[in-house]
This record gives sequence, C-alpha cells and structure tokens, in this order.
Amino acid sequence: MKVMAAGLTDVGCVRRSNEDSLGLSPELHLYIVADGMGGHAAGEVASRMAVQLIKEFFSSPEITEQTEEMKLARAVNFANQKIHEAGEKDPALNGMGTTVVTVLARPEQVLIGFVGDSRVYLHHQNKIQQLTQDHSLVNEYVRKGLLTPEAAERHPLKHVISRALGTSPAVEVETLRRSPESGDTLLLCSDGLSNKLTFEEMNAILSKTGDNLEKACSSLVEKAKEKGGEDNITVILIGYR
Ligand code: CA
Repeated sequence: MKVMAAGLTDVGCVRRSNEDSLGLSPELHLYIVADGMGGHAAGEVASRMAVQLIKEFFSSPEITEQTEEMKLARAVNFANQKIHEAGEKDPALNGMGTTVVTVLARPEQVLIGFVGDSRVYLHHQNKIQQLTQDHSLVNEYVRKGLLTPEAAERHPLKHVISRALGTSPAVEVETLRRSPESGDTLLLCSDGLSNKLTFEEMNAILSKTGDNLEKACSSLVEKAKEKGGEDNITVILIGYR
C-alpha cells in the first residue's frame, strides 16, 4: 500500500494571524496539526514549536523507547516540556499553549497521539468517523454522561479545552492504533474546520475527490470559509491507496 499526503493551512476570514501550524514529514511517516493559544504572537510560537520539536524528536537516532506508543508519547512530552519552559522564561510567551494531533502513518499501521481538541477522522468506504475524543470541558461532560453530544455541540463553553501542550510541566497524551485499509483517508484538522463542517459535508468532499488530496484539502478549507471562517483552518489528508 502507498501512503500519500497533502496539507493546507489558512488564516480564515476574520482573524489577522494564523496560530495553527502543520507538519508533513513523509520521510519520518510523521504528520502533525497544532492549534496554538495565548496572547499576541504566543499561540503561533507554541504551535510552531510543537511541530518542530516533535519532528526533531523523531529525527534523533538515539530514541530507545520499546514501543511506538511510548515513543510517540515521549515526543509529545518532550515538546510540552520545551514549550512550557519557553513560556516560563519569556513574559511575552507566558501561559502559551497548543493542541496537537500527531500521526505516525506507516504502510501497515497508523498510530495517533493527541492532546486537546484538534481531531483525526477516518474516511472509510464512503463513511466518515471521528477517531479522537476531544480533551475539552464539554466532552468530559459527555464522557461522564452529563451532557448529550448534541447539547455539547451548541454549548457556550465548547471551545474550552481541558488538556493542552505547554501550559503545565507534564501532559497526558492519549494514543490510538489503527490498521489502515486501501482506500482509507485520514483527516487531521484544527477546530477551525471541525466546528464548521458537518460529517456529511466532510464525507461528500472526501468521497468525491478520491486520490486528489490537494484538491480535497482546498475544498475542505473553502467550505469552512464559505460558512464564516471565523477561526484559522488547518487540514492534513493522509491517503492509503
Ligand atoms: Ca482554533
């Protein structure tokens, strides 16, 4: 099976700066989306650092972790620690943080590590499903049965995340493993996309565009902008063919 990928980030229609970052490193099988937060330029710094530091970790020949999950969790923790330290040192960057989804997409297996509310979806046989569970306040309520998923979608505190990279010295990384099938496409995105497109809209675009992942990325971003584009929009598509 061949693994192909494309990615796109867009400032959107309202904001002046783009605090999202994305990383595509096919040579490392590594794909990253990060959505930064913090005053002034701090969000941009945090998301960019997350992408660079995770790449740096995987480029190091001295990784000794026993399993890929442990390696992935350590890479994200490495980034967390460095972002946290940078925020502590520089008052202008104090309190900065970022979400992150990191995907190791090997031909035989997919490994996902994530923190926050950026998401990974799987498009499989013309159906789309969300693989990650948001680390957000409202989703914690959904998981506990205190809120329905429908009520969570409309909740005024929907944007409040319960875990982020960089805001504290240590972070808990959630990991998932999948066996990809030919025809599958993984969609990684920031909430600037997931808040705007319904499952049906994502599914329609991915089912129609097939192997042209660049075009599918543009169509997804355009759709989010058509519907307001209030936030920064970032998407990576990874296709198994
Ligand atoms: Ca965002």
